[in-house]
Amino acid sequence: MSVKKLKILFVTAEMSPFAKTGGLADVAASLPKALAELGHDVRVVMPKYQSIEADFRYVMDFPIQIENRIETCVVRKVDVNLKGTGKKGSLPVYFADSYKYFDRDGIYGHYDDSERFVFFCKATLNLLPLINFKPDIIHCNDWHTGPICLLLKEELKDNEFYKSISTVYTIHNLEYQGNFHSYVVNLLNTGYEVFTPEKAEFFGMFSFMKTGLVYADVITTVSSVYAKEIQTPQYGERLDGLLQKRSSDLYGVLNGIDYEEFNPGTDRSIEHNFGVDNFQDKKLNKSALQKETGLPQSDVPVIGLISRLSGQKGLNLIIDRIDDFMARDLQFVLLGTGDDYYQDHFRRIAAKYPEKISINLEFNAKLAQKIYAGSDMFLMPSRFEPCGLGQIISLRYGTIPIVRATGGLAETIIDYDEDTSHGNGFSFSNFSSDDMIDAIDRAIMLYKEKPDEWNKLVVRAMKSDFSWNRSAAKYVELYINAVNKRRD
Ligand code: ADP
Repeated sequence: MSVKKLKILFVTAEMSPFAKTGGLADVAASLPKALAELGHDVRVVMPKYQSIEADFRYVMDFPIQIENRIETCVVRKVDVNLKGTGKKGSLPVYFADSYKYFDRDGIYGHYDDSERFVFFCKATLNLLPLINFKPDIIHCNDWHTGPICLLLKEELKDNEFYKSISTVYTIHNLEYQGNFHSYVVNLLNTGYEVFTPEKAEFFGMFSFMKTGLVYADVITTVSSVYAKEIQTPQYGERLDGLLQKRSSDLYGVLNGIDYEEFNPGTDRSIEHNFGVDNFQDKKLNKSALQKETGLPQSDVPVIGLISRLSGQKGLNLIIDRIDDFMARDLQFVLLGTGDDYYQDHFRRIAAKYPEKISINLEFNAKLAQKIYAGSDMFLMPSRFEPCGLGQIISLRYGTIPIVRATGGLAETIIDYDEDTSHGNGFSFSNFSSDDMIDAIDRAIMLYKEKPDEWNKLVVRAMKSDFSWNRSAAKYVELYINAVNKRRD
């Protein structure tokens, strides 16, 4: 069945390679491309942070009203090449800039983040008629973009240009909600009618996340398991009631990764390219990684971990039992930045076990690829994980994930079963150090005692398909669903 060509605007606070703190940037870099390759007319809008350097083309300036002030938005554009599947053409990415809001260090964490992202939401909406692009769908992502859904349904519902635009809102992580002082209402120029428990008010605060959940036509999150989990008090971050109420509009769509970008056969960040047919060359990357991180050259299993250092990621399971963990015959390479609490702990651990641990407290995309390629195993003991990309990238590089079975980790990683030789990794259910160490032991045992079985597992991992093909088609279905809903 042929699908109508849709006009899709993808709105995001991060997009790789321009700005990245986590998985949202990877999704923004790959899903719009996959949709464009399916023949849809897709454009992306994101803020122009100071750190972004690119071959920008100036598009226009226009005024934006914030409260009773007028701020200027400067729009620039980059056309990103569409690689892969032989498609020609490019994906237009618009950057909303403001000297006041974005010409400074860092992406998030500023005292005026609420105002910065109100500006971004308004800029996105105001831009559309000026570039003569009337989307069928605006696909909003995470709290930074929630007010777009509110503005469309409250302020612009009778506006000829905007009134037929549908919205899809994707939760990449429910923990980050953008809850701010009710003064946001003034910045939005909506009036306090929207500051009620049925709308944007959330325990006395104005919640950006909640505006997306209340006003979007369709809500998605990044795995089916997480879609169910967030409807429970344990994972719902106090929004489980609202998510239950909207459960008929809530879908889980698993993230993919860009198989062109994350390709051990062509990746220029790694020393030795390899694929399923010569996966043994992975060992050369292991040696290179040991050399680069100052670990002894040996064939002990190397366990990698690349992550934001935050409570979500289950790092306490490691820290609490570090001596037991280190009693195993293994090496551990960690790459991450984040909370001082974890940075301090890992610095201390590194000093205690210099021969076994390499701790790299930085954001380093190249080193990340070297770890994916050079490790034997990849550890993700997350407390919760909406989707998780680390385990998917690891599979692609023949690095066997060891994960806590939650959210997207539960959906993508099947625990190895010795009897049936089935599975693509190791997983444990309880959030406990004992269970994590047990899973690590099972992985090490297979690696050391049954190398043939291990190699088969590596090949199975490398052959699994988590490209965007299936998930992009699923989004198209949901876009059509949202358009029909709006029409009705
Ligand atoms: P989250 O979005 O919660 O941070 P994901 O697993 O979905 O977690 O995505 C994390 C992405 O960020 C992966 O591509 C991972 O490789 C990358 N990443 C995380 N920390 C770093 C770091 N310190 N240096 C380089 N890449 C990192």
